Amino acid sequence: MSEKLLEVKELRTEFKREKSWVTAVNDVSFSINKGEVLGLVGESGCGKSVTSLSIMRLLLDTSGKTTHGEVMFDGKDILKISEKEMRGIRGYKMAMIFQNPMSSLNPCIRVDKQLMEAILLHNKISKQEARQRAFNVLQSVGIPDPENTLRSYPHQLSGGMSQRVMIAMAMSCEPQLLIADEPTTALDVTIQAQILDLMLEIKEKRNTGILLITHDLGVVAEMCSRVIVMYAGRIVEEAPVKDLFANPVHPYTQGLIASVPKLGSNMTSLPSIPGSVPDLSVMPKGCKFAPRCKYAQSICHEKEPELTYVEGSTVQRCRCHLFHSKREEA
Ligand code: SF4
Repeated sequence: MSEKLLEVKELRTEFKREKSWVTAVNDVSFSINKGEVLGLVGESGCGKSVTSLSIMRLLLDTSGKTTHGEVMFDGKDILKISEKEMRGIRGYKMAMIFQNPMSSLNPCIRVDKQLMEAILLHNKISKQEARQRAFNVLQSVGIPDPENTLRSYPHQLSGGMSQRVMIAMAMSCEPQLLIADEPTTALDVTIQAQILDLMLEIKEKRNTGILLITHDLGVVAEMCSRVIVMYAGRIVEEAPVKDLFANPVHPYTQGLIASVPKLGSNMTSLPSIPGSVPDLSVMPKGCKFAPRCKYAQSICHEKEPELTYVEGSTVQRCRCHLFHSKREEA
């Protein structure tokens, strides 16, 4: 039986826009088991990164705040603990790999100092031991010359090496949960494959739970066992990966999957989803996808659908009136 590592319940995060508050993430609930890779997909602006920053409580430097919900981790609602207690969890029991290593590593500080700082913060060990651990963790992420890398500044490293340093930093305290926000977007395909293999290896070795945020459905198919699709700050579909690709139920998920190029296909242009993600301050009433949905009915413009289980399934959930009405007719 799989053991639950993280449970997010009814999460809502809002941002201040001039004199009012806008909702970026609403009613988001999901869980991650130990040793599981859960994918979080959707277009830019769908709320994926805000969800992860809310879980990590990293919205402090923004105008955002989590106004509702629970994030259960290690037996506690981490939204309710003090910032001091959270600092003992962040980077230690849960860590994050950001999209762009060059904007996350300090360019003026050598890699050894940055890695050791993270290690020393959470472990009562000497500087010498911390340096040895930094060396070991660089070696474990496949850096060929860890000593040289430790002595380097981030700008002296290639994109792939910098991303490996970021992963090493995140893994240096052996976290139970790793949140990876588009970890391979800035990398070429060969380095991307190496980084993804590395994350799977880490998961196997340490039973780490991974929340993988991406817009790349190919990466999801390769890495994840379950996937959540987000649109306009809501979960619109959730399913095991094979069910989602074999039977996508929500029109948005169907559109995302249809827009992926297929090997051997002779199509001259790819189908795309018309329109764009709604602005947070002018969210449509009812279903947030309605202005872009070719199946929209009058109820879709009036009432927001609930996220409910697909008929006959206990693992696939969907938020769509069309699907509900089909189910009621059956
Ligand atoms: Fe489309 Fe209506 Fe379903 Fe929304 S609820 S996805 S508008 S059919």
